Amino acid sequence: MASLEVKREKSIIEIGPERFPLGSNKVGIIAGPCAVESREQLMASARAVKKAGCIGLRGGAFKPRTSPYSFQGMGEEGLKLLAEAREETGLAVVTEVIGLEQVEVVAKYADVLQVGARNMQHYPLLEALGKVDKPVLLKRGMSARLDEFLLAAEYIISAGNGKVILCERGIRTFEEYVRNTLPLTAVAELNDKTHLPVIVDPSHGTGHAHLVPSMSTAAVAAGADGLIIECHPDPEHATSDGAQSITPASLDKLMKRLKRVAQAI
Ligand code: PEP
Ligand code: MN
Repeated sequence: MASLEVKREKSIIEIGPERFPLGSNKVGIIAGPCAVESREQLMASARAVKKAGCIGLRGGAFKPRTSPYSFQGMGEEGLKLLAEAREETGLAVVTEVIGLEQVEVVAKYADVLQVGARNMQHYPLLEALGKVDKPVLLKRGMSARLDEFLLAAEYIISAGNGKVILCERGIRTFEEYVRNTLPLTAVAELNDKTHLPVIVDPSHGTGHAHLVPSMSTAAVAAGADGLIIECHPDPEHATSDGAQSITPASLDKLMKRLKRVAQAI
C-alpha cells in the first residue's frame, strides 16, 4: 500500500494546527531538543524553533534510553509542556511513543506520533498506531533494510492509518567517527519506491552537531520532504544527545541556507 505502483502521486500529509503539507514541494523542518527537560528549556526551544521558520517542535517525553539508569523523560508532564508550546507558537508537536500503554496519552497531546528506531519492528505498536487518526513518523531501525522499513510502514497503513512519514536516521556500520552512517541514497531510493513523505534526521544520523548543517543541506538536495533536527538552547547541559544538538543561532543560519537549497532544486 506504500508503493508508488499502487498510488502514483505523492501523498501529502498535513501536520499541526497550521496544516503544513508535508510531501508537497515545500520542505518542512521540525526541530527541538532530544528530550523535554523543563518548562523553561522547552519554551526557549519552541520560541527559537518558531523564530527560525520551522513548522514543528520535537521533544521526547518518553525516552528510549540505552541505559535504564539514564533520564527516561518527563512522561505526561512533558506532553503537557509540548501542548503548551503548541498553544503559544502554532508549531506541530512531534513526540515519541515507546510502548503500547502510552499510545492513548501520546495521541491526546501530539500532532505527530514518532516511532523510534528501536521500535521499528515492534509490530503490535505499529498496529495500534494504525488505529490512531494522526500522522505517524516512523524511523528506520538502525539495522533495518529498506524493504523491512517499508514493510513496517505497511503494518501501520494496513491497520487503517495511511498517514505515515518515513524517517531515515542513519544505520549502524563499522565506522566510528559518526554515531551512525547516514545513507542519503535511501532518500532517492524511497522516493522512487513509495508515495509516502520521506524526511531525514541528520542529528542521530551523524551524532555530531558540526556535521548537521552539511547533512541537512545534502538531504534536502537529495529530495527529502523535510528534516527533524535536534536543537537545544544549551547543548552542553542537555540531559540527552547534547553533542549532536545544534544551538538556536546555528539553526537560524541553517534555515537560511536550506531555503536557498530548496529554491535551487
Ligand atoms: C530521538 O529522536 O531522540 C531518538 C531516540 O531517535 P532514534 O529512535 O532515531 O534513535
Ligand atoms: Mn535524541
